[in-house]
Amino acid sequence: MRPDPHSYADAAQPQTQSIDLDLRADFQDQVLHGEITLRFRSPGGGPFDLDTRDLQIQSVASLDGAPLPFTLAAPEPILGSRLRVDLPHGSRGLRIRYRTSPQATALQWLAPSQTAGDQPFLYSQSQPIHARSLAPLQDTPRIRVSVGSARFTVPARLRTLMAAAPRGREPAGAEAVDLFEMPQPIPPYLLAFAVGDLVQRPLSPRSAVWAEPAVAAAAAHELAGVEAMMLAAERLFGPYEWDRYDVLVMPRSFPYGGMENPRLTFVTPSILAGDRSLVNVIAHELAHAWTGNLVTNASADDFWLNEGFTVYAERRILEALEGRESAEMHAAAGLHELRTALDRFAAHPERTRLRNDLRGVDPDEAYSTVPYEKGYLLLRKLEETAGRAAWDGFLREYLAAFRFQSIVTQQFLDFLEQRLPGLAGRAGALEYIDGPGLPPSAPLPRSRRLEQLRTGAAEPANPTELLVLLQSIAPGAARLREMDARWGLSSRRSLELRHTFVVLQLRAGVEGAVEAARQLLLATGRMKYLRPLYTELLRCDRAAAERIFAEARGGYHNIARAVVEGLLKGDPPKG
Ligand SMILES: [Zn+2]
Repeated sequence: MRPDPHSYADAAQPQTQSIDLDLRADFQDQVLHGEITLRFRSPGGGPFDLDTRDLQIQSVASLDGAPLPFTLAAPEPILGSRLRVDLPHGSRGLRIRYRTSPQATALQWLAPSQTAGDQPFLYSQSQPIHARSLAPLQDTPRIRVSVGSARFTVPARLRTLMAAAPRGREPAGAEAVDLFEMPQPIPPYLLAFAVGDLVQRPLSPRSAVWAEPAVAAAAAHELAGVEAMMLAAERLFGPYEWDRYDVLVMPRSFPYGGMENPRLTFVTPSILAGDRSLVNVIAHELAHAWTGNLVTNASADDFWLNEGFTVYAERRILEALEGRESAEMHAAAGLHELRTALDRFAAHPERTRLRNDLRGVDPDEAYSTVPYEKGYLLLRKLEETAGRAAWDGFLREYLAAFRFQSIVTQQFLDFLEQRLPGLAGRAGALEYIDGPGLPPSAPLPRSRRLEQLRTGAAEPANPTELLVLLQSIAPGAARLREMDARWGLSSRRSLELRHTFVVLQLRAGVEGAVEAARQLLLATGRMKYLRPLYTELLRCDRAAAERIFAEARGGYHNIARAVVEGLLKGDPPKG
């Protein structure tokens, strides 16, 4: 029985409890030479199925070294290749030697020219189902694993960071071995590491930022408020369970705003706006330490349990630090993104439910802002219906009851009914969970400030307000010129503002807008910016879109590349 539609893991077979990893990074051939040891929760035998993608399996052996028979199935387009091992009765684990492919979907190997410095860089992005291209494992969040030991052999001039506890570094000639351990059990999609020329700037006794030397100072300035965020989050959600909280500023190709890898958030360099206006991304990734990493969705079908809760938690942190008006402004920007996404899925309304059925659908293709922002609106509705005190009590109980577990939406609903009987019914929760689109009862952001901006009664006082203003208007070329002169929009370091402005310029047919778009598309690989820019370019100048993609694609992560290719082909969302 396979409970996760995106994994070959079989509930009747042994479950992995912990792994050991031994990886050697070959930057020349862009492959990892690997050995993984899987240890089981309890002994078992018979067929044992693992997920793999593009792996070359060299040998499979028992824990005492006896070779074991195995078969590697032909690849299935979404799932990859099932590796079936024949386990003798009473097996406690197994050991596999393998090699990754240069096309491994979890990995990006960057040349020095694609970094902020003069050294190569390697990083992993395992969510949602790419860990299987790094190592053969049961790649489902239902099966959490600890990491007994991880060894990375890398060129001595580079350093490995893993989303785990560091356990030292051993010299090995021209190479070095970086050692780690991860005692807290994690879903495999949180396995993460990066190798590069990286330096550390401390932020507080339990927090630091890592970055390439050229951006370290800017990163430390931008993230100075991390400890205050941690304290605010702990007051709301309970103690931080992961010991340290470090942030790694990634090279510009990183496809997401951030990735909540435990102990070590990976974050796009595009948040380094210089004015701390985009640190809500950090609030989001930090919040995942509770919502997502501690209480985890059991599969991509329940992704909103990770992201809806985390957007809600992010805005509660912002409210605690900056006040209600600021949180409402972010909620307004989020609502704008949700409406754009709902338009994109107009032909596939079933994709806009919170509880999904993604059998046969690639979770990367189903990815959208819907589980984030619609999930947020549901939780806000529940809060407003229950009252904040009752709701906050429930949230803390929910996080404590399911800590270090992976759950489905029904478990959340059952627990909610048990603790706050009738609340889900009064709030119309199932309309959000199993119904398409935005329920008419959805609580929309309310803010006097927002009204003043929209009606022109007030001028934007900070970058978030400026963004919300830009999102809510459709100005012509002359007005855009005037706004640019007033707020310097085309020279802002904040890509959040700049990409929004360039999309408006493209829409208004402003001269030079295509070149401005090109500059942005070469400067970032963050999908949040690629999607609207390419979409708008395709509307106004398809040839330019294709030309720019040909120039920029080498700098994009393969997840982002696939998204842009889909846009260029005019693919509707599949399903
Ligand atoms: Zn998130």
